[in-house]
Amino acid sequence: MTFSDLPLIPALKRAVADAGYEAPTPIQQATIPLVIEGGDVLGCAQTGTGKTAAFALPILQHMHTNPVRPRVIRSLILTPTRELALQIYESFGIYGKPLPVKTTVVFGGVSQNPQVDALDRGVDILVATPGRLCDLISQGHISLSKIEIFVLDEADRMLDMGFIHDVKKIIAMLPAKRQTLFFSATMPPEVEKLAMSILTNPKTVKVDPPTSTVDAIRQCLYMIDKGNKRKLLSQLLKSSEVTSALVFSRTKYGADRIVRELIKDGIPSMAIHGDKTQAARQAALSAFKQGKLKVLIATDIAARGIDIAGLSHVINYDLPNEPESYIHRIGRTGRAGMDGDAISFCSIDEVKYLREIEKLIGRSIPRRECDWPMTIFTETPKAPRIGRTPEQIAEARRRGQFSSRKPAAFASQGIQKHSGGSSNAKHTGLPKVAR
Ligand code: AMP
Repeated sequence: MTFSDLPLIPALKRAVADAGYEAPTPIQQATIPLVIEGGDVLGCAQTGTGKTAAFALPILQHMHTNPVRPRVIRSLILTPTRELALQIYESFGIYGKPLPVKTTVVFGGVSQNPQVDALDRGVDILVATPGRLCDLISQGHISLSKIEIFVLDEADRMLDMGFIHDVKKIIAMLPAKRQTLFFSATMPPEVEKLAMSILTNPKTVKVDPPTSTVDAIRQCLYMIDKGNKRKLLSQLLKSSEVTSALVFSRTKYGADRIVRELIKDGIPSMAIHGDKTQAARQAALSAFKQGKLKVLIATDIAARGIDIAGLSHVINYDLPNEPESYIHRIGRTGRAGMDGDAISFCSIDEVKYLREIEKLIGRSIPRRECDWPMTIFTETPKAPRIGRTPEQIAEARRRGQFSSRKPAAFASQGIQKHSGGSSNAKHTGLPKVAR
């Protein structure tokens, strides 16, 4: 199928050709005609599949072919993170370039004044994160009463991040008669329940379950002692094959440490994570996207959904303790049919995570030899926590130094946690390790 087979107006076909797209991706092939027909859609797809254009192109077309003057917000795209909001806004800018349709974006962590000014100038399409949207609605800067098309993007992430209350509040303000497009990478029961409560006779579109995207990516793994990871990272980053690398660290503290070590080794790099200001995250991300910075260090949450065209390498400095995160991480490379490389480091303490990852992807990741072969073959015992105050324990937990409540409790009785016991935060009921 080509874009000319889709019921899109010529200006939009030209815009996608100008963006360098040769053929619609499977989610675009399936979703675009459904949205143009006007029905509700339940899309099971993750970022990286071309999902944004799948909803942006038909929305732009609708706004252009059914203009309302003066402009009012007639389409709302609700997305969980500031980075995703900006990315979607930029995509609307690219695809909508030839059309007199106006899009703007609102998200928190920055002054609201320029956003209010842009709203006051009149917009057709609004991309927003839930918190800032609720604030601007309560101040009377935004009304959702004229929304015709509502997109709920990354619904599973939205719930994971605790936005359910805001999302429900926003949905309650939308007109009952509207078109709703609901996208989620996964469909756990609570997401499905939300979908069913806001969609009317939806058509379901399912593409690329996460595991199949792994096929396009060359993966390899180094078994290496923790203390040698930095040497291997510097060596790999100095090789000419690596043109742009996104390096994943499990913790925010670890991400900052990697940056310091790389800078010592003469490799400029920056980190993005939840403790950085929005301005610092944006500066690092745009330097990286523009190719001015070759290496970006990120935690899982900060990098979620970030789209960087032409990313050559993803490096897992630490293996994630949730196997699904491995797929999300390596999916940052090998986008939209391009190939990419994913390199992982695994110390003896991470072998348990490696087993889970290989079980999930259904294959073993090819091992590679390096100049620093593994010498430590016994897991690091958990440090005893005796003597810490509750405040110190809370701080350590905040920093991601605990992954289970058990060691502290056992240590106070002089008992060490048995190695091999679950340290997966998912099963402990504790907040996940800081990312
Ligand atoms: P998304 O899933 O919307 O974040 O898109 C992921 C990446 O795929 C973005 O860099 C898009 O520019 C790119 N993309 C979207 N649609 C196509 C297409 N039909 N052909 C090639 N690249 C595309």
